[in-house]
Amino acid sequence: MTTLVKAWTAARETLKAAGVDQPAIDARLMLEFAADVSRTEIVTDPYRELTAEQEAKLDGLIARRARREPVSHIVGRKGFWKIMLSVTPDVLTPRADTETVVELVLRDFPEQMAFSVLDLGVGSGTMLLAILAERPAAKGLGVDVSEEALAVARENAANLDLDNRVALLRGDWTFGLGDASFDLVVSNPPYIATDEIETLDPEVKDHEPRLALDGGADGLDAYRFLAPEILRVLKPGGRFAVEIGHTQAAAVEALFKAAGAEGVTTHQDLGLRDRVVAGVKASF
Ligand code: GLN
Repeated sequence: MTTLVKAWTAARETLKAAGVDQPAIDARLMLEFAADVSRTEIVTDPYRELTAEQEAKLDGLIARRARREPVSHIVGRKGFWKIMLSVTPDVLTPRADTETVVELVLRDFPEQMAFSVLDLGVGSGTMLLAILAERPAAKGLGVDVSEEALAVARENAANLDLDNRVALLRGDWTFGLGDASFDLVVSNPPYIATDEIETLDPEVKDHEPRLALDGGADGLDAYRFLAPEILRVLKPGGRFAVEIGHTQAAAVEALFKAAGAEGVTTHQDLGLRDRVVAGVKASF
């Protein structure tokens, strides 16, 4: 028999030895999940004993994490902005960096405004659903090339009661979408240079979908295609915001300016790194 505090300590040491970035936090998350306890209970009732079943479950979870499976894949979900999302290995795990896009967009689209939003490469629905959850009169379309990702997005839309305001369609970026159709376009396309992928953490390079990461030789392939296409599908006066890698601001700004965008600006994430390029389609 082991106690909550002993189990936490042992799990932390195992994860530390495996090179996990935040072993104490991840050990606690696994313990919460395995023993069905809250963070507070671990602290206020540290000598509570685990059942044999809970102990076995914890061992299994810790072994997976020690193999560098992301926490989000092990627990099957991840919080983003104000929503909780189901996550599988078929989608990019929602990242706090991406909240920069949501924050920026919400500033330009007031709460009661009716508008249409397109999310290109919607994945689990991260940005699109976070925006729709905050803007009750908005409607959204999410497009992804991966049917598996769309299944995750559909589950998330249903769980959040947003399925009546969102359409999720399989497609190759903007192919088949009409001109001047949307008030807002967002995208978090793959933007890692192919050669850089091998340098990323095992959680990312071994467990997240390449399709959502690989941006070609210089990481910019998706933006080269998307910049003119986003300007095409936006209504006059419509806005766009795309996530970028922190070294890509100048290149991505140039692509959107060349495509005719106006008011092109770069915005930083909470780590003060360039993270979003945004702009407007001229209204005439
Ligand atoms: N921000 C992600 C990472 O660094 C990449 C996301 C993307 O390519 N869109 O792992």
